[in-house]
Amino acid sequence: MAFTYRGGVLCAEEVSLEDVARQFGTPCYVYSRAAIERAYREYADELAGRPSLVCYSVKANSNLAVLSVMAQLGAGFDIVSGGELARVIAAGGDLAKVVFSGIGKSEIEIRDALQAGVLSINLESEQELARVNGIAIGMGKRAPVAFRVNPDVDAKTHPYISTGLKQSKFGIAYADAERLYREAARLPGIRLTGIGCHIGSLMNDSAPFVAATQRIVALLVRLEQAGIALAHIDLGGGMGIRYKDEAQAPIAAFVHGALDALGQRKEKVLLDPGRSIVGNAGILLTRVEYVKPGEAKNFVVVDAAMNDLLRPALYDAWHEIRQVRETESDGLAGVYDVVGPICESADFLARERKLAPRPGGLLAIMSAGAYGMAMSSNYNTRPRPAEVLVSGGEMHLARRRETTQELLALETIPQW
Ligand SMILES: *Cc1c(COP(=O)(O)O)cnc(C)c1O
Repeated sequence: MAFTYRGGVLCAEEVSLEDVARQFGTPCYVYSRAAIERAYREYADELAGRPSLVCYSVKANSNLAVLSVMAQLGAGFDIVSGGELARVIAAGGDLAKVVFSGIGKSEIEIRDALQAGVLSINLESEQELARVNGIAIGMGKRAPVAFRVNPDVDAKTHPYISTGLKQSKFGIAYADAERLYREAARLPGIRLTGIGCHIGSLMNDSAPFVAATQRIVALLVRLEQAGIALAHIDLGGGMGIRYKDEAQAPIAAFVHGALDALGQRKEKVLLDPGRSIVGNAGILLTRVEYVKPGEAKNFVVVDAAMNDLLRPALYDAWHEIRQVRETESDGLAGVYDVVGPICESADFLARERKLAPRPGGLLAIMSAGAYGMAMSSNYNTRPRPAEVLVSGGEMHLARRRETTQELLALETIPQW
């Protein structure tokens, strides 16, 4: 386990979180390199012996130090913007292992991706096909593309992160796929390389993922009969992690289920996991400002807030809270809501937790490695936290804390 108590103090690998707070302040994201590597290897091992590529979904945690860990492992990358492409380049990622997803790619983003030589542009509409074709012809290239097909499978997850149903904005309709592939096959700026899907995030059960794979395989067979051969099948990400005590299918169940559905097919298998690689590999370290007993509720007011970790406010997500000192000598035992300083009632990080906190003590918000820093903002003019990557007994400041001056620097006051 990446985060364990040693002598009563919570540690990231071998580094005490008290040391991290002393050196880099709070709030602060802390990631374990070993935990990231372990999660990646679980995918790689399950896929071993078959042509495959794990494309880490950059949006889950796009810190360059994290991307560099993935690049060194030989991972590919799933990106959704030109900014993420720039990050993969800066982190030394292999551009020939990059898939570019997203429904709103701009002309510049498409041009930059073609220039970079990505593995595949995942198309999500007929208009995008025409746009990519035109840009590629202008550049004297053939764009490698896959269609993201909407398999109309319910991922049975939170509606905000469910993406594979007919009413979803993502992907092309299943019924349109064969026609669009035939059309694309005739375009001079297009090289058909694959087919993809991604039905949602935080799937606890592998059944919808396997069902989606079966739907895509059925389509592959039809396309083959139409004379369209594809090199890869991209099954997306969305494998869940355990935040609390929910039943969670292991990575192996997703991979085995998909491989069974693929049977003897020879296409290269791509997976784009994000959360399941980094989610449990990170925590948000925060300091208790005040312990505030109330009439109806008790509050622990901490220095982290919804701008740092949006998931509780946005999805009512549950994150485990641990005291960095397992027992605070002068802690006040009770049931608390853990809240931030922001002027919104949605600014909570946890509700109704048994804790014995003391002002000045440290808390760790667990499983915050995915969609934590990546979704952070400067709301209430709060500088974003530092990020620290730990490896064994070493800590590396992967992103220093923002300063208030930096937040003001982009703005100007008119002189009229
Ligand atoms: C967000 C996304 C992923 C990663 O989802 P996780 O739930 O973090 O695994 C993978 N593929 C696509 C196309 C995505 O949009």
